[in-house]
Amino acid sequence: MKKDRRDFLKIAGLAAVAGIGAPSAFGSLLRGSDEALAAAPAAGGEEAAKSGKRLGMVINVRAFAAQPELAEKCTEVCHSIHNVPDFGNPKDEIKWIWKDKYNNVFADSSHYKRPGGLAEVPVLALCNHCDKPPCVRACPTKATFKKSDGVVAMDYHRCIGCRFCMAACPYGARSFNWRDPRGKDENGNPFIKTLNPKFPARMRGVVEKCNFCTERLAVGQIPACVEAVAGTGAMFFGDLNDPNSEISQILSLYYTVQRKPSLGTYPSLFYII
Ligand code: SF4
Ligand code: SF4
Ligand code: SF4
Repeated sequence: MKKDRRDFLKIAGLAAVAGIGAPSAFGSLLRGSDEALAAAPAAGGEEAAKSGKRLGMVINVRAFAAQPELAEKCTEVCHSIHNVPDFGNPKDEIKWIWKDKYNNVFADSSHYKRPGGLAEVPVLALCNHCDKPPCVRACPTKATFKKSDGVVAMDYHRCIGCRFCMAACPYGARSFNWRDPRGKDENGNPFIKTLNPKFPARMRGVVEKCNFCTERLAVGQIPACVEAVAGTGAMFFGDLNDPNSEISQILSLYYTVQRKPSLGTYPSLFYII
């Protein structure tokens, strides 16, 4: 059995775990040939960069709707390992990954004749690691930059807090530290409950966001949120430019949507609805 066919069968198993209904092409692909996989359309129908790595993520909204506790697991692990402060009020909220209603996450999509329950379904949102990121263009100090693997990262030491990147990001994926994250509230409780000494804590006046766990990728690990829901079929991560990667094969099988595709930012996050 060829490797890509083995991988495909593994994905089919994951899809079953996640409760994803098999599309009509699924059976014929299983019966069929490796040629069928090779002929699968490009992810999202966009003109992605054809060379080099482009890391991306698939979020299976159905799996998160079926198991709401998964979203909490993702947020908890992300915010704890990345020293994301909790200032205790929505105005100052710092968020790397968060839940919002379907209608808000996909505000520009038509909601006419959608299944009734969908409007209230909580959907995970995070930085889209856009292939054409407007935040990078807007940043005057190069504190925000795109890495060769497609990750849109930050150098906190270069951030001057101008917030141009926040104005440029159409997804609300960036947060500004109005207060010192390493400080305490009036009762003496630290804003970062348990400091992870292996990851830098930010300073007041600095912007932050999801970094696709670039520090974990550097040592061969997958993003912490994806690891937290492993085996559920709720999230997939990998190289969008590798046709044999798990994520590419998922994208070739299931119809997915991106947030605000008309803006031309080319998000690297895809949602199975
Ligand atoms: S989602 Fe926003 S912060 Fe993330 S890469 Fe795109 S524009 Fe930048
Ligand atoms: S706030 Fe920081 S990251 Fe954002 S544009 Fe200004 S310098 Fe760049
Ligand atoms: S990829 Fe990493 S940084 Fe981004 S939301 Fe998931 S755990 Fe957080």
